[in-house]
Amino acid sequence: MPYLWEIPMGTRPGMLVPAQIYALEEMIDAILNDNSIEQLIHVSMLPGIMKAAMVMPDVHQGYGFPIGGIAAMRWPDGVISPGGIGYDINCGVRLLRSQLHEKQISAQLEELSVELYKEVPSGIGKGGQLTLDREQLTQVLKKGALWAVENGYGDRKDLQNIESGGVLDFADPQYVSEHAFQRGFAQLGTIGAGNHFVEVDRVEEIYDEETARVFQLQKGQIVILIHTGSRGLGHQVATDYIRIMQTAMSRYGLKSPDRELACVPFDSKEGQEYYKAMCAAANFAWCNREVITWEIRKAWNKVFGENGGKLDLLYDVAHNIAKIEEHHIDSKIQKVIVHRKGATRAFGPGNKEIPAHFLQTGQPVLIPGSMGTNSYVLAGTRGSEDLTFGSCCHGAGRRLSRTAAKKQVEAVQLKKKLQDQGIHIQSGSFRGLAEEAPIAYKDVDLVVETVQQAGIAKKVAKLRPLAVIKG
Ligand code: 5GP
Ligand code: MN
Ligand code: MN
Repeated sequence: MPYLWEIPMGTRPGMLVPAQIYALEEMIDAILNDNSIEQLIHVSMLPGIMKAAMVMPDVHQGYGFPIGGIAAMRWPDGVISPGGIGYDINCGVRLLRSQLHEKQISAQLEELSVELYKEVPSGIGKGGQLTLDREQLTQVLKKGALWAVENGYGDRKDLQNIESGGVLDFADPQYVSEHAFQRGFAQLGTIGAGNHFVEVDRVEEIYDEETARVFQLQKGQIVILIHTGSRGLGHQVATDYIRIMQTAMSRYGLKSPDRELACVPFDSKEGQEYYKAMCAAANFAWCNREVITWEIRKAWNKVFGENGGKLDLLYDVAHNIAKIEEHHIDSKIQKVIVHRKGATRAFGPGNKEIPAHFLQTGQPVLIPGSMGTNSYVLAGTRGSEDLTFGSCCHGAGRRLSRTAAKKQVEAVQLKKKLQDQGIHIQSGSFRGLAEEAPIAYKDVDLVVETVQQAGIAKKVAKLRPLAVIKG
């Protein structure tokens, strides 16, 4: 198959399953350019791994485990690895749908981007509009997006359109360190820096009319994409538990081919504590994206007043997370710990985990490209459930490291070039901007073409950026 490459199990001693790479042939050279396939082989050696270690076409090298990677471990004794989830626990994307078309906002686009930049705090370590006390943050960690709704920073209708309803019940704030709490008090409702953004897009093309009707997307419509995660709090949870696992591993007789790929059995003390803390950080991220939505709605109403209509949530997806799910493996249903690191859940029609209104279409899957290229809305398929534990890609994926991008791109010129293409950029940092230049990323059209051909997601709509707010 021209989109699936397999490294057989016997290729390297220690591999427990094959390693699979989903990518069109023309993408392979770029993928072999960094260490990600070596990392994928390491993942195939993790105890309890089922079926195959997989990477999506947006794969690139990450901490221990490749970004764009998927690994499902046998429940409950297979391992959990924080490197397989990432430092930004529950980094994810949501899409807000407006009732306006491009021509209705073009005169006020600049004003809108300035208001969004003012309302949504951005930048490294930047604090937000709310400062929580310990009790409030504890509730955020337990309740996720519901906390925002109960406290006037969210809309109850949004909850049904968030993966897992915006909360993982397994969360236990008791396993989140004091340091992580300290980093969380002031960061709710902030996007952070670098790759994170709020973006105003226009629906450029519809590929699947019927699904687009259910998703309520039309050509020319204005939508808003939000990409951020659990900020300093999630980063600290990852840091804390990677350190703990690096020393705990040997007690369970585990040896990893890479120190960065620390792991422990899911049902061990450390495994359970990490998972409870990870779920708490995931809840923080869902609450964060809900509060940011509230900020965006404020900016929108300020600019458009009564004529602006509502901003509805299409869907919110996590792309750095581990979840306990049931999948068909070796012709039986088995419970597994699915690690998705830079990979999006893509459940298909009929899956009982997705909201009733998407039962016919499959869940929405949101794929950002870059600030100067297309982004996509896809729908999950049954194919993904058969092949990739119900998962697909999460973006275009890096082609150049941040350092390499900075060497090749001059930020002032980049901003002007994007401006000439009709894309407004609001950014606190020129350095950050260069790192995120469109040439730093792979060709998102090819990435999406791969998952479409592989049958693990289906194209619904293409988006074009009009205004991008970056940290
Ligand atoms: P990650 O979560 O791996 O940092 O990023 C997810 C994806 O977002 C990247 O692979 C990239 O394709 C995309 N991306 C990064 N910056 C932007 C941006 O400003 N706008 C859009 N639409 N996508 C972006
Ligand atoms: Mn992130
Ligand atoms: Mn992300």
